[in-house]
Amino acid sequence: MGGGSHGVSLCPLRRPGDLKAIISDIHGNLEALESVLADIHGRGVTEIYCLGDIVGYGPNPKECIELVQKNCQLVILGNHDQGALFDPEGFHAGAERAIFWTRAQLERRGNEHLMDFLGEIPRTVRQDDYLFVHGSARNPINEYVFPDDIYNQRKMERIFVLVPKYCFQGHTHVPGVFTEGLKFFRPEEIGFKYDLGPEKLLVNVGSVGQPRNGDPRSSYVLLEQGRVVFQRVAYDVEKTRQKIHAIPELDNYLGDRLLEGR
Ligand code: ZN
Repeated sequence: MGGGSHGVSLCPLRRPGDLKAIISDIHGNLEALESVLADIHGRGVTEIYCLGDIVGYGPNPKECIELVQKNCQLVILGNHDQGALFDPEGFHAGAERAIFWTRAQLERRGNEHLMDFLGEIPRTVRQDDYLFVHGSARNPINEYVFPDDIYNQRKMERIFVLVPKYCFQGHTHVPGVFTEGLKFFRPEEIGFKYDLGPEKLLVNVGSVGQPRNGDPRSSYVLLEQGRVVFQRVAYDVEKTRQKIHAIPELDNYLGDRLLEGR
């Protein structure tokens, strides 16, 4: 992993042709991550950033951490990653059980490198005009910014004041663009593309491993000079679902919801 909190070695989009892929919320879903990485690698992407929640809910935490470590130049810590490292706080019962199971997998002998990797991941990284977080600029790990928050002017103003220009985030699993003028655009409403202009933006890249906007396909974003493009990638949902059903500590519901993307 490159980077660190100042990101000196990573200068985004300086050269024409630079193309980044930004992924988030993998949640231990190996089939989804493999499909997304294959799609990304077929597009001439120069760097891949991951906005956290590599683990939690899904059946392959170890494999997902290893793939992220190998493929991503920048990784941000998510609340489930933090929950696996420390005592989980503020999770509902099913999520907490999944975190304890995840931690048990990562604490097996021979997996020390995985916990070490998680332990070094920064909570936020800024590069020039760009800020990268899991939740929000105000509370990088835990705060949700949902589409309905455009009606919460106070909350949005307090978040936007902390954003240099463009903030890329995940956490809600709902992809889209928030403008400083308090509009929210779902990818389908904008032809899956948004031109970066003078206005400050929050861009939610959606979720690779547990999409929740009614579309079971994985979501990620391509970032090129002046533009973000929302991508969807199909993967073998049934295979992941069956793996989850086979693990008693993971609620069946965590697999079933993948079929509908909810
Ligand atoms: Zn998540």
